[in-house]
Amino acid sequence: MSRCTMDSPVSELSGVGKARASQLGKLGIQTVRDLIYHFPRAYEKRSDVRLLSGYDTDAPRSYVLTVASAVKSASIKRGLTISKFRAFDESGSIEIVFFNSPYVKDVFHVGEEFRFYGKITQLKNKLQLSNPKYESTSSQTPLADFMPVYHLTEGLSSKILGKLIKEALNDVIPQLCDPMPEYLRLAQKLTTLPNAIKNLHFPENEALISSAITRLAFDEMFYFALGISLSASRKKSLRGIKFSPCSLSPLLNLLPFELTDSQKHVINDIYADTVIAKNGEISPMGRIIVGDVGSGKTVCAIAAMYICATSGYQSALMVPTEILARQHFKDVCELLGRLGIKCELLLGSTTQKEKKRIYQEISDGTASIVIGTHALISEKVDFANLGLIVTDEQHRFGVAQRSVLKDKSKKAHMLVMSATPIPRTLALALYGDLDVSKITEIPKGRQKIDTYVVDESYRKRMNAFIQSQVNDGGQCYIVCPSIESEEGIEETYVPDGISGISSQKSFNLKNATDYASELKKALPSLRIEVLHGRMTPAQKDEIMNRFSLREVDVLVSTTVIEVGVNVPNASVMIVENAERFGLSQLHQLRGRVGRGSRKSYCILVSDLKTEKAMSRLEIMRSTANGYEIAEKDLMMRGPGDFFSANSNDNLRQSGGFEFHFATMCDKEDLFVSAFSAAKQIASADGELALEEHALLKAALEEKITVNSSTIS
Ligand code: ADP
Ligand code: MG
Repeated sequence: MSRCTMDSPVSELSGVGKARASQLGKLGIQTVRDLIYHFPRAYEKRSDVRLLSGYDTDAPRSYVLTVASAVKSASIKRGLTISKFRAFDESGSIEIVFFNSPYVKDVFHVGEEFRFYGKITQLKNKLQLSNPKYESTSSQTPLADFMPVYHLTEGLSSKILGKLIKEALNDVIPQLCDPMPEYLRLAQKLTTLPNAIKNLHFPENEALISSAITRLAFDEMFYFALGISLSASRKKSLRGIKFSPCSLSPLLNLLPFELTDSQKHVINDIYADTVIAKNGEISPMGRIIVGDVGSGKTVCAIAAMYICATSGYQSALMVPTEILARQHFKDVCELLGRLGIKCELLLGSTTQKEKKRIYQEISDGTASIVIGTHALISEKVDFANLGLIVTDEQHRFGVAQRSVLKDKSKKAHMLVMSATPIPRTLALALYGDLDVSKITEIPKGRQKIDTYVVDESYRKRMNAFIQSQVNDGGQCYIVCPSIESEEGIEETYVPDGISGISSQKSFNLKNATDYASELKKALPSLRIEVLHGRMTPAQKDEIMNRFSLREVDVLVSTTVIEVGVNVPNASVMIVENAERFGLSQLHQLRGRVGRGSRKSYCILVSDLKTEKAMSRLEIMRSTANGYEIAEKDLMMRGPGDFFSANSNDNLRQSGGFEFHFATMCDKEDLFVSAFSAAKQIASADGELALEEHALLKAALEEKITVNSSTIS
């Protein structure tokens, strides 16, 4: 009989006729490869045999029982027959029932022993096991400890699927080779791919399942990491633009503060990347500045743009919201404008006429710095000599958009600023191709932000507190939850923590407009304004401006102010329906206050008293460090949830790579090893030209073409 190959259609397997092939087709299984990669979704632990005296009515269990009476079948109503018999073990006996399975009378004979698997129900005074799964203990092959449970379709049982897979594996296992180089597999103590596949389908014990999952999880991360590491190393081999040596004093002299040591380090890193040639050459910078909210990342980016402009090159600064773009524009103009560097602001809402003028200035090189939202990566923007691309609050863009930017200029230096505290694993996946500069200290003179969690009963006291803070010269933000589908694009963002709570019914959702008019009644002497995503950019801008000029005392807003906005005089952040927000998002919101020397407060208002909601908010109350918050959030939700909750971050689709096993495997070290292994291979053999990497290269290429998206 001819053997199947991986690419054979399933119909070549014996026992697969037209009907079966079409059932398999419904599961997306066309080829033998599809079949053997159709992994179980769970396992039944059949080896854990219980005595009837220790029965469990909560979960299915195995019971080894001897048939005590002949099967009796009866037709109890039209279309329903019931077959019953009794069975026993040393500790007791039970009634076993099958519905519409009259053939069981030929299966169960008095005195024979079977291993049954099912959930026992207690009916008045008797125990019953209905429709259990069963295997004869006298069969030739020993009983398996674990039974795979597959995603199924009508007419196809796990048993049948298992049989087909076994047959297919018998044929193809000898042809299956492991693309992972032996040295890497041994170093990582991983099982081989064929073993992993076999053990996922037919595990002999739990340890083998877990080592198989580990192997496949490693593969998912490793190929993804290899993709980005190779493109990063290719980029390193490109020649980048060398900026001229310059003094930063003119810029630093304009700053109203002294840089922190961390900021100096970051700026040194950037200077070294872009100005100081190694072996006479510069490769394009790919660097991320990681620093908690308020640590002062912006000024580092401004320094980078200054270096770039002094060398006669253009910079693009891309941010996720218009408000932030306007604010950066103002800050950058204040510093660099005064040094004679021409800055432009390009937004989706910029008028056509104005856009045309700016495009012109960008393409003839008149504009040195362009600040904007995603409009900046539109096709019409054609830079004369782009030298540096800066993106702020990177997580909002995701890998895919970063790639587009990268394509705009292969040679340009790239600087990313991220305040979103993301756990290390995710950071690696998102930024694995970037060098990291960390800001570890926050500017001196900042005071700790006091955080309180309160409920509706505090409303009066809270209003009095707002009044007293304003009397004291402070300002206040109040954030109400927004309904993203109804609001502007800058709010279409699913906060990272929402998945765990979205199913809960929201009640009493505060809306910014009504909230503001009530507050005006309660505190008539205060200047209160509303800001939300449905306003025009000009309106938003005007209000934000007046808030920063202290012409507004209280800003009632949606999350449009979440990212990056900087008004150092603001001292109170109140978040209504705080349970609606992700922890990292709350941390971002809290980061809007405590930016100056004023003592600042964050008040999280929530009436939701579930344990989960309360413990999340308690994390916010007790922790100030954004990274710790993100890690704790991750712990509470589990990594699988984290990956899927962040699927809108383009991670799951990034480069078309999927993370299925990675989400089941919570060994953080594994991610780290996968990335460092990939980095090592990329730097040693950037083209995967070595003999020992030939299979790896083929496997990676296959993944990239199958998944079709770009990885660079
Ligand atoms: P983030 O890292 O969150 O982007 P910003 O760059 O917006 O933080 O800086 C937050 C505030 O701290 C700004 O008002 C900025 O002017 C100020 N700042 C930045 N660096 C320093 C410093 N070294 N000393 C004092 N204040 C600083
Ligand atoms: Mg910022």
